[in-house]
Amino acid sequence: MMNALTIDVESWVYRDFGYDGHRFDAEVKYCCLENQISHMLSLLEHYGAVATWFFLGEVQEHAPKVLEEVARTGQEIAFHTYAHKPLRNTQVLLKELEKSKRFISDFKPRGFRAPWAYITRDAFPVLARHGFRYSSSTYGPFNMRKVVDGVLEIPASSLPIFPFKRKCSMIFPRDLKVALKMGEIPYGSGSFLGLLGRKAGWFIKRANKMGAPSIILIHPWQVAESPVSSVRFRAIPYYRNVNDAFKSLLERFSFTSIFELMKDMGIEIHS
Ligand SMILES: [Zn+2]
Repeated sequence: MMNALTIDVESWVYRDFGYDGHRFDAEVKYCCLENQISHMLSLLEHYGAVATWFFLGEVQEHAPKVLEEVARTGQEIAFHTYAHKPLRNTQVLLKELEKSKRFISDFKPRGFRAPWAYITRDAFPVLARHGFRYSSSTYGPFNMRKVVDGVLEIPASSLPIFPFKRKCSMIFPRDLKVALKMGEIPYGSGSFLGLLGRKAGWFIKRANKMGAPSIILIHPWQVAESPVSSVRFRAIPYYRNVNDAFKSLLERFSFTSIFELMKDMGIEIHS
């Protein structure tokens, strides 16, 4: 069974400094990205995998070459806002879209992902108006996907701990915290990949056995060097290098982009 691999392309500063990451210069923000992307691309090439790459619009300004390199290799280019601001309301989203006009007209992304997997219900008509056909801005089981104002929301994977006890439902926002509160293991998240390592494969296999693909999320800084050595933070799963675990997943499972996965499964992505 095919699964979807998604890569959120952003600076390591959003990992280390959260919402505060914006105050850093482009030089600091994007100093390692080219190496990280090249490493990620060569891994995918080696294992014959295709992914959906959710790019920040600002990457086009500070590291245009890597963006073009990814597009050239037939990977899917999608959109992750301009500068990773939390989308507390549609005003923020509209500003991020405005700043990313060039990225959107150059790459015509069909897919969208909200930073920190935080999206509100009223963001969907805005996304539809800007040409997006699907979003992957929540955590949840695959069968929870839902068309909202013409945009198909496809959650990054989580597995309910007690599947028969509680019925999962789509709500917005449905970020990592909400999924955990609902009694789910969000094994598709970057943090959980750090926590589970190659054991994430157990969850992918389990979902596949039940007939559902897994939607897995990873960041380029999780597989390659990042400017902070992370010695201080090694205990935090999010900071762990998961290069070996990721390689083992690529070896054991087949991955493609979200768009191709939907096409393979005959699930219509509305225009
Ligand atoms: Zn992100």
